Amino acid sequence: MRLKSLKLSGFKSFVDPIQVDFPGIMCGIVGPNGCGKSNIIDAIKWVKGELSAKSLRSESLQDVIFNGSDNRKPVSHCSVELFFDNSENFLGGEYLKFDEVSVKREMGRDGQSTYFINNASARRRDVQDLFLGTGLGANSYAIIEQGIISSLVSAKPEELRSYVEEAAGITKYKERKRETESRIKRTSENIDRLKDLEDEVKRSIRRLNAEANLTTKYKKLREKEKELSKFLINSEINALTDQLKSAEKENKSTEDGIEKLDGERLAFTSKRDVSKTKLMEGLKDLEDQQRVFFELGAKISLIEEKEKSSNTRISELELEQEKNKKNLADLSDDGGAVETSSAESDVEKVIESEVSTEIKNFQGKIDESVLEILKQSLIKFWKKGFDFGKGKGSDNSETINSLKEQFVERNKAIITEIEGIKKDLKNEKSGLSDLVENRKEQEGKITTLRANQDNLNEEVRKFEAEITRLETQKEAISQKRNEEEVNKRSLENEIKEKTEKLDTYKDVKDIQGEEEDISIELERLQQKIMNLGPINFAAPETLEAEKQRKEVLTSQIEELVESLSKLDEAIKKIDRESNKSFNDCLNSTNKFLEEIFPKLFDGGFCKLNPVDSSEDSGLILMARLPGKKNTKLSQLSGGEKALTALALVFSLFSINPAPFCLLDEVDAPLDDENTVRFINLVSEMSSKVQFIFVTHNKISMEKSTHLLGVTMRDLGVSKVVSVDVEQAMELAQS
Ligand code: ATP
Ligand code: MG
Repeated sequence: MRLKSLKLSGFKSFVDPIQVDFPGIMCGIVGPNGCGKSNIIDAIKWVKGELSAKSLRSESLQDVIFNGSDNRKPVSHCSVELFFDNSENFLGGEYLKFDEVSVKREMGRDGQSTYFINNASARRRDVQDLFLGTGLGANSYAIIEQGIISSLVSAKPEELRSYVEEAAGITKYKERKRETESRIKRTSENIDRLKDLEDEVKRSIRRLNAEANLTTKYKKLREKEKELSKFLINSEINALTDQLKSAEKENKSTEDGIEKLDGERLAFTSKRDVSKTKLMEGLKDLEDQQRVFFELGAKISLIEEKEKSSNTRISELELEQEKNKKNLADLSDDGGAVETSSAESDVEKVIESEVSTEIKNFQGKIDESVLEILKQSLIKFWKKGFDFGKGKGSDNSETINSLKEQFVERNKAIITEIEGIKKDLKNEKSGLSDLVENRKEQEGKITTLRANQDNLNEEVRKFEAEITRLETQKEAISQKRNEEEVNKRSLENEIKEKTEKLDTYKDVKDIQGEEEDISIELERLQQKIMNLGPINFAAPETLEAEKQRKEVLTSQIEELVESLSKLDEAIKKIDRESNKSFNDCLNSTNKFLEEIFPKLFDGGFCKLNPVDSSEDSGLILMARLPGKKNTKLSQLSGGEKALTALALVFSLFSINPAPFCLLDEVDAPLDDENTVRFINLVSEMSSKVQFIFVTHNKISMEKSTHLLGVTMRDLGVSKVVSVDVEQAMELAQS
């Protein structure tokens, strides 16, 4: 495999896109100091995935991007691409079919790199794998940077070992070993993790076992509880049904009681109504009788009044009679010597006074006007009786006689009237005793009727009291009936509830026993259930699941343990193989050193020896120059060191030639003689390896098959041109 060309853009001083071809097998790169020669070496290291800024002679990774010059602005990203000739199928595997393989790395200012192999996006890892074991791997002995060749001889034992390992291709083994070890680590971790899980599951199984047992126990107790409850519910229903029956009976008798009370009340009501009717009738009777009584009283009063007025009249008449008699007597005594005029006026006076007296009795009883009329009529009547007109013109005796006659007549009339009055009065009074008798009788009747009414009233009151008593009683009994109804309903509800509950116990076994015993047993059972504490009902199912999980875990652990032992075996194999390769390689290197060292130094001896006897012991370079004592390597001159280091590098190349070798001014410390030796060796080796070397040395330039001149005409910007030796020399010295 040969490096055909290199494309650079924005990398360090190579700001413009440029393609550098390496046509020969010994390409010398020439140019003045600081023109960018070593930047080409850096570019190749960078593409391979270098992450150390220091190793790229930068402070940070981004520093590899062109950061500007006097005339040029900085750029935002850089890219480097290597083109390999793979026509000899140096790169196998998936690259076997490609005659040319390109590897590219790009990076922006953010420091993010992207890699491509044959223009297909790739990981850094893929790029590293590509170079692994080719001598261009991580511990590459194929790139000898400027100024380090001398220090190679005094490299640390581990570093020297790593060069041999790279040459032996052990880096590949190491990578495999690292992978296997990390797989072992992962597997062990997985095993640990699974074991932790298994332990956890085991603990959980133990706990669940206990919980599941508890659940089973609980279920059994609950089943038994149901049996006992069923029995008790049954008995309760029976008891309740009995209670309901007696309640219904009681209710019935209460209803009957109410009915009886209603009957009694009705009877009293009708009795009361009868008494009330009687009372009404009696009242009417009483009123009638009272009316009769008052009528009788009125009649009696009338008669008594009449008697009184008759007696008064009789007295008046008797008085008048007396007066008349006196007048008669007077008239008889005077012998009629009474002047007519005076007699007439006397009579008129008498008449008027008589009439006035008469009238007085009616005063206040009849109207004044009527009274006046009556008075005038009476006067007229009286005067007529005396018939004064007749007497006019006759003589006095006649008049007196006439008067006498009139008085006599009058007295006769008075007697007749008195008799008439007396007779009338007698008639009237004859009925009075009957009336009085009747009234007395009537009074008796009224008294009887009143007593009767009182009795009836008393009766009605008693009946009312009885009705009220019955109603109160009914109210109380109705209250009782309502309570009974409520009680009945609650009993019915209770029975319904219990029956419904019993329905859910259909599948529960029926048991026999004494209610009391069963109650006690149920109580004990419930206490037991309480004592069980919280129950995990999911425990049996969870237990099953956990058992299955444990089985899976156990088999996973077994599998992992098995693969772990396989990995251990693989490690051992890798170790065996890599140890063998390492030892083979070390032997071959030493063998080559034995050959090459004397060639370079005209004798002498050089060997790589393990520091100790451990399997991964570091290496130490032993050298003895011809004619000199076995001096310490550190005491060698710069040129001697460089030449010794080159001997070592070329020995490694002889074992595992990398596709190309980059040497940056390794010939700088050498004198001409040694430069000739060095370049001859390079030339010899170039049959197997492509050499690209930076040099200022004309001898080296002359030996190279192709010369590339690096210039920096445009300050800060590197350019590459093909030059011949003369031009190269000119360039180097410019
Ligand atoms: P010598 O012969 O002395 O070894 P050289 O040719 O090897 O010199 P290099 O080391 O390749 O020189 O290049 C150094 C130059 O590259 C310096 O001038 C430096 O400024 C320039 N350089 C390095 N990094 C960058 C960068 N990121 N951007 C621009 N220029 C850079
Ligand atoms: Mg340099």
